[in-house]
Amino acid sequence: MPRDDWHMDESKIRKGMLMRQTRPWTACFFIVTLISSMVDHAQNQPPPLPLKIEKLKDDLYVVTGDAGNTTVYVTEEGLVLVDDKFERNYDDLMSKVRSVTDKPVKYVINTHAHGDHTGSNAKVPPTALIIGHENARAAMVKGKQAAPPSLTYTERIAIRIGGKDVIAFHPGRCHTDGDTFVYFPALKVMSTGDCYNTANGQGVNFTNSPTFSLYTDYNTGGSFVAWEKTADEVLKFDFDTVVPGHGPVAKRDQMLKWRADMDAIQKRVRSMVREGKSKEDVQKMLVTEFGWDPKGRATLSSVDGMMNELRY
Ligand SMILES: [Zn+2]
Repeated sequence: MPRDDWHMDESKIRKGMLMRQTRPWTACFFIVTLISSMVDHAQNQPPPLPLKIEKLKDDLYVVTGDAGNTTVYVTEEGLVLVDDKFERNYDDLMSKVRSVTDKPVKYVINTHAHGDHTGSNAKVPPTALIIGHENARAAMVKGKQAAPPSLTYTERIAIRIGGKDVIAFHPGRCHTDGDTFVYFPALKVMSTGDCYNTANGQGVNFTNSPTFSLYTDYNTGGSFVAWEKTADEVLKFDFDTVVPGHGPVAKRDQMLKWRADMDAIQKRVRSMVREGKSKEDVQKMLVTEFGWDPKGRATLSSVDGMMNELRY
């Protein structure tokens, strides 16, 4: 999503590469520019958007508004949170949680490594156990992100708390190579992280496209081709309600439409690659035929990788 931490890291890396290629005085200039741009960035950083808590089913809530969605599951023994937004959202997030329950946070499940889903890991009480896929942990360690998961798994991990079940599982690659889906069997609810979004990072989906924010992070092991198989594994579960990584809560039918559009995109891009069409042609097609945002990260950053994958 546009305000992910790793996005800022990427621009710093690019600036660092520039510095290595220049003479010392030019490097000094870049350092001054870099420092002032970092100060500007801090000063110009928009304040976090206010959060909202919404009840989905008995004992299950979603906190929306800024960064990734947070799912909150209330049990007699404590809370399970799925994702915890940016660090800057922590106080507002906890005040929204405290408006519905005074139970302690027992588990935080990170759906993937990106900072808009894991940023408050460093602030959650030490009594809470942070869980994530082993590849998500590896990406967070590599990115020097604070408080990566202390408990990792590879295929599936089940939590039994307060007489209730929560199943976290990794059906394959999609948005990254360390994505976790979280299933609440008693309530038939699925939290998906960024493998399924109904809006971009700011909650916007002006074309109402099911695949508006289908962003594949190739730098973190994501795959557009693997995404379909992953989606099919997820759709084998019995659920009626979906908490996406970003955007409004959805029904299973919307996810089925998204799955069908993904298939259509794959066929369309594959044939365009065979016809020798350019990246710009594919970007234009995604905007006009599938309602993608011309300035969205999915359109700007995923298309090279998609074309490479669909070349064969
Ligand atoms: Zn993400």
